[in-house]
Amino acid sequence: MTASPIGLKVWVEGIVQGVGFRPFIYSLAVDHHLTGWVRNTSGGVEIMLNGAPENVDAFMTALRANPPSLARLDRVETHPTPVQVFQGFEILASQSDPDQFIPISPDVAICPDCRRELFDPTNRRYRYPFINCTNCGPRFTIIRDIPYDRPKTTMAGFPMCPACRSEYDNPLDRRFHAQPTACPECGPQLYFEVNSQPIAEREDALQMARWSLAKGKIIAIKGLGGFHLACDATNSEAVAELRRRKKRSDKAFALMAFDSAAVERHAHLSPEERALLESHSAPVVLLNRKLDSLIAAECAPGQNTLGFMLPYTPLHLLLLEPMSGFPDALVMTSGNLSEEPIAYSDEDARERLSGMADAFLQHDRPIHMRVDDSVARVFDCQPYLIRRSRGYAPNSIQLPAPAPQILAAGAELKNTFCLTREKYAFISHHIGDLENYETLQSFESGITHFENLFRVKPEAIACDLHPDYLASQYAQQRAQRENIQLIQVQHHHAHLAACLADNGWNSDEPVIGLSYDGTGMGTDGAIWGGEVLMGNYSGYRRMAHLAYVPLPGGDLAVRKPARMALAHLWAAGIEWETDLPPVKALCYEERTALRSQVEHCIASPDTSSMGRLFDAASALIGIRQEATYEGQAAIELEAIADVNEKSFYPINPDNGPIQMAGLWQAIISDWRAGIPTPILAARFHNSIVHLSVVICDQIRSRTGCSTVALSGGVWQNQYLLTRTVDQLKSAQFTVLVHHQVPANDGCIALGQAVVAAHLLQAA
Ligand code: ZN
Ligand code: ZN
Ligand code: FE
Repeated sequence: MTASPIGLKVWVEGIVQGVGFRPFIYSLAVDHHLTGWVRNTSGGVEIMLNGAPENVDAFMTALRANPPSLARLDRVETHPTPVQVFQGFEILASQSDPDQFIPISPDVAICPDCRRELFDPTNRRYRYPFINCTNCGPRFTIIRDIPYDRPKTTMAGFPMCPACRSEYDNPLDRRFHAQPTACPECGPQLYFEVNSQPIAEREDALQMARWSLAKGKIIAIKGLGGFHLACDATNSEAVAELRRRKKRSDKAFALMAFDSAAVERHAHLSPEERALLESHSAPVVLLNRKLDSLIAAECAPGQNTLGFMLPYTPLHLLLLEPMSGFPDALVMTSGNLSEEPIAYSDEDARERLSGMADAFLQHDRPIHMRVDDSVARVFDCQPYLIRRSRGYAPNSIQLPAPAPQILAAGAELKNTFCLTREKYAFISHHIGDLENYETLQSFESGITHFENLFRVKPEAIACDLHPDYLASQYAQQRAQRENIQLIQVQHHHAHLAACLADNGWNSDEPVIGLSYDGTGMGTDGAIWGGEVLMGNYSGYRRMAHLAYVPLPGGDLAVRKPARMALAHLWAAGIEWETDLPPVKALCYEERTALRSQVEHCIASPDTSSMGRLFDAASALIGIRQEATYEGQAAIELEAIADVNEKSFYPINPDNGPIQMAGLWQAIISDWRAGIPTPILAARFHNSIVHLSVVICDQIRSRTGCSTVALSGGVWQNQYLLTRTVDQLKSAQFTVLVHHQVPANDGCIALGQAVVAAHLLQAA
C-alpha cells in the first residue's frame, strides 16, 4: 500500500545556475518517480514536486547530500502545497524578477569529460577549442545580464546547430541547458592574424601559433578574460624580448604548462599545491623552483619561486599539447603594457598589442568582462590568495551577519570593489591600480555591471580616508549625486575588518590587528603602514606603530629603496658612511639633495610604513637599491633569507613609537663584520617576527585579548608569515590569516563594506 501523493515546493538559493543544476534536479525527480517542474528565477531555483511522501523525502535527502560539484547551496526551503496533476517532470523557462538576485558562477576550468572528448578522434568535438558543458566553461566573462541564458551572453550570436540543440534540449545530456555549448559546426572559431590580416583558420591557425611559439616568437592569444602575451618560457632571448616590448623589466611572468607532471619538472609540488593547480578555479600558483629547471631565469629574476597555471580552457590545452620540439612551458602574461589593464576587446588588442606581438591567435567569441588570472599560493595546507580574480570572482563571500546594501570603493592600488546584500559580499575581480583612465573606466563599468547582476542599489558608499584616491573621488561624487551616506574607513582598520570577515568572525570582541603594508592614509595625515591596532568591525585603537620617518619624494621612495634606507638612517641618527651599499648607490649630489629634503621636510611626508622598512633593509644589506615594481626589494630580501637562521636583533617596543635605531646599528655592524647577506636577511625577518610577538604579548597582558589578525600586503611574505604564525601559536594566540581574499589591498573593499555595515546598523 502506498501513501497518497503530496505536493512540495522547494526554493534553492546559492550557486545554482550554470552548474548543471536543473538537469540534476530533472534526473533526480525522474529517478524518484516524481512529477512537477524546475525553473531558474533571478533569485535562485524553484522546484515543484508531486509524488509519494517517501519519494519526496528521498529526493530532498539526495539533493542536500550530493548536489552537482560546482553548485553551492546557501539556502534550501520547502513548503507543502496542494497536489496538482503534471504529465511528467519538466524544465520551465526562466523567470526574471527585478528585485531578486542569484550568485553568478565564475569561469570554470575545462572538466575531465570535456578534456577526454577534446582528444577523442571519434568525438564530433575532437580538437574543438571551445568545447564546454554544464560542468565547465566560460561564465562570468561572457554574461551580459541575468538570468543566465544564452541570449544574455556573448554566445548570443552563435545559433545552435541541430546536433547541439538536441543535446541542449535533452535533460539527460551533459550539455542540457549549457548556455555556452557549441561545436565546430555552429560555434566560435580560431584564426591566426598577422598585421591585422587573418592568414589561417581553425586547426591551421592553432598550428601556426604553436609553430611560431616554438620558433621564439611572441604571440598575443585571446583567452577567457582577455589577451595573453605568450612565448617559449625556456627561451631566454624570447623572454627578454617580451620584457623589452612590454616595458616590464623584472616583475615575474606567469607560466603555463600542459599538466601537473610538466609543472613538476620545474617546481616542487606538494599535494595541496597540486590540488590548487588542478582546481576548477585554476589560479597561477607560486611554487618553489627546482634548481635544475630549464625555465629561463628572465621569467622570474631575483626570485626562487615560479608562478604556474594549468591550461584552463580547451584552447590552452591544444596550445600546450606536448610534442617534441614544442616548448615545455609558455610565458602567459597579461596582454598589456606594464601598468595598463589587460586588453580584452579585439580592436583594443589590435591597437595596444600589435607593437608587442608578432602575431595574434584570435577567436570570434566576444569577452564581456575583462578578468585577469588569479594568483595564489599554499600556506598551511590551504589556498592563500594574492590576486582573487578569474575562477573566483564573482563568487560571493558569506558575511558573518546580514548587511544593508553597500558599495565599497576599495583602495587605490590592487583595487577591487565590493557590494553587499543580505549575507553576501560580492567582491569584484581584480581591477588593478587606479592610476590611468582605462582602469578607472573599467572600475566604473564594473560597478554598474555588478549592481545590475546582483540587483544592488547602495544605500551607502564606503571609501578610503584618502581624498585623492580615484576610488574615493568616485565614491564622494556618487554619494553626493545620489544623496546617500558616505562612510570613510581608515585603511588599516579596513585591513583588520577584512581579515575578521574573511574568517567569519561574528562577535564584537576586539582583536589585535597587525596591519602591515606599504601605504595607507592615517587619521593624523601621516602615511601609516606598520600598525598594531586593537579593534573590531565598529572601531579601533592604535596600540603601537613604527616610529615615523620621512618618505623622501613620496612615490620616488618606493622606486628607490636606497633613498628609503638613507631616510631611515637619518631618522635613527646614523651617519651615511660611504661604505654602506645604499650610500654608495647614490651619487654625492643626490645625497646632498636628499639630506636637505629630509632635514627641511620637503615633499617628505611622515611614514610608519612596514613595506618601506623592508625596502630600507633590502637596500642596507646590499640587495636592491632601485626597484622597478612595488615590493621588489622586499621580495628579493625574502628570497635570499637563510631559512635555517634563528637569531634576531631585539627591538624595544616600549616608550611610544617603535624606534629602529638599534636594529640598523646591529645590521650595519654585522654587515661590516662580514656576515653573509642570507644570514642578515634572515635576522632582519626574525627581528620583525620577534617584535610582533612581543607587542602582542604586551597587549594581551594589558587587555586579555588573545586573538591576532594578520592583514596587509607585507603578509604576502611567506618567511615572515610562517614564522609569525608559528610563534604566535606557540605563545597560545589564536591567529587569523586571510583565506578567501588576499592580505594585500585586494581585501580593502571587503573591510570597508563590513565596517560601513556595522556603522549603519548601529545608527
Ligand atoms: Zn565540461
Ligand atoms: Zn553545434
Ligand atoms: Fe594596505
